[in-house]
Amino acid sequence: MKHAVRILLLVLLPTLLLSQTPTLEYKLGMSKPTTHLLEVELSVANLPSSPGGVDFLLPVWRTGRYVLFDFAGGVQEFSAVDGSGKALRWEKTDKSTWHVEKGRSTGVTIRYKVYANEFGDRTRGLNGDHAFVDACGVFMYVERYRHLPLTVAVSPYQDWHVTSGLESDPHDKLRLLAPNYDVLADSPIEVGHQKDIEFDVDGKKHILMIYGEANYDAEKMVKDLTTIVKANKEFWGDLPYQKYVFMLHITPHGGGTEHINSTIMQTGPGTFKTPANYQGFLGLVSHEYFHTWNVKQLRPKGILPYDYMHENYLKELWIAEGTTSYYDGLLLVRCGLSPVTQMVNGLAGTVQFDRQRPGNKVQSLSESSFDAWVKFWKGGQQSFNSESDYYGKGSGVSMLLDLEIRQCSNNKHSLDDVMLALYHRFPLSGKGYTVDDLQKISEEFAGSSFKTFFDNYVHGTAPLDWETTLRYAGLDVQALDSERKPWLGVQAYDQNGRTMIRGILTGSPAYDAGLDLGDELLAINGRRVRSSELQDRVAEFKAGDKVKITLFRDDVLRELEVTLRLQDVPSYKVVKTANPTPLQKSIYESWLKTKWE
Ligand SMILES: [Zn+2]
Repeated sequence: MKHAVRILLLVLLPTLLLSQTPTLEYKLGMSKPTTHLLEVELSVANLPSSPGGVDFLLPVWRTGRYVLFDFAGGVQEFSAVDGSGKALRWEKTDKSTWHVEKGRSTGVTIRYKVYANEFGDRTRGLNGDHAFVDACGVFMYVERYRHLPLTVAVSPYQDWHVTSGLESDPHDKLRLLAPNYDVLADSPIEVGHQKDIEFDVDGKKHILMIYGEANYDAEKMVKDLTTIVKANKEFWGDLPYQKYVFMLHITPHGGGTEHINSTIMQTGPGTFKTPANYQGFLGLVSHEYFHTWNVKQLRPKGILPYDYMHENYLKELWIAEGTTSYYDGLLLVRCGLSPVTQMVNGLAGTVQFDRQRPGNKVQSLSESSFDAWVKFWKGGQQSFNSESDYYGKGSGVSMLLDLEIRQCSNNKHSLDDVMLALYHRFPLSGKGYTVDDLQKISEEFAGSSFKTFFDNYVHGTAPLDWETTLRYAGLDVQALDSERKPWLGVQAYDQNGRTMIRGILTGSPAYDAGLDLGDELLAINGRRVRSSELQDRVAEFKAGDKVKITLFRDDVLRELEVTLRLQDVPSYKVVKTANPTPLQKSIYESWLKTKWE
């Protein structure tokens, strides 16, 4: 190659490459909010002129909830045109893929509507009051251009405004900018009359966005959110964003979803009526905000990068969710927003619930994580009996892991160090961590093997040894055996004057006697029974007594005999030990950031 030609090519090449980079522009309309129809447009320009087609995909799930939603079901009136407005041929090639034949055209614009009335799933919603958009449920994407920057021009209804974690065009607040589809998919957009309350923490902009009415104290909320932000900054060492948005819907729905620099939380107006309810809300905030690091930055391998079109299998949801659940309460205690005594007293219920759940003996935490797609989020009839809960049990195992590391390292190290090391060693730009990495780093800090711990509690179903482990922190777990009463082992509820069974614990007297889900309870020993008095009525008998249960099953009257036993699992009390060793005291104090007293 001649020198001059080479120079010319070197000069032209970047321009040629640049001119071939497609651009992606979305438009989002909502001209008739009460129809619940969002109007979506995506224009892709600068496509190669070679003949071919483009696949437009709509995710089948959204980040943070590991179950298929099949958002394509809400899409209607799809159409496609080329750069000059000429209609293009298209066909669906699977449930969530629209294949557009573009010929030699270098531009394609697709338009479609999305029926959005699923606010409670925190996926997509539009009504006369506001719009909420999680991109996974609304915006199609092109896999091969997923990494490219994009814009979203929002046309709000009337005088509604836009709130989002995304940056806006400095010249046009309604034009949102995202460096790629993954960031768009992790940045929900609210459009409406929501209040945006700005506050600053460590020089970074934070926004408390509130949709809905309630008797809340915004000043106190901002103060408490600031405390939570600072506690997390102290824990993780940084704030991994330029701005953060706490999005709050005050609605009948409940729950929250974490996103890359925002969270969407939903709670009822009753949240602000009692201190206990408000405390619960702070727990939700603490949980979602901790996720900013644990799962949004520190990501398990199975969800890095996200595959939007299929289930993403991973054994680490108990770390992503359970460890977050552990720290959401712990950090509130450490930063003074929740009383230490409340947490210590609450451990009694945690121990009892863990032991009462039959599913904990059936399914390991690894399996619970992996099968979330077909089990946990389905909430099936058998879930309590056959599944462990990667949130609740994952939180318990995280606590035991924390205390084990503290005990083994003579309280020099803790799970805090392990999480921080994971965060530094597995950045979002890498390949993600696995449960083996957690075990390895735990062993590094503890200075001993954790194989048995992980084999038993993570990959296996061994019962958790709360007594031994809580004693490391000077806490005694006392079983209140004398308070055990005869029981049936059913969950019942009253509806339209009927008392229905909705849960039966594996191995309980009711289970052994053959009571079934959906049975309508009528009487015990010939006397009518209601769900509210069921346990008290049963407790009037003695262990070993046989009682006659009358019920309707499929409209047929039946009578079953049940032999009563004492509750399998007692209630517990967790108290500080009378004479703590220096190590017990020091673990308790650094774990809860408090004085033993
Ligand atoms: Zn969570």
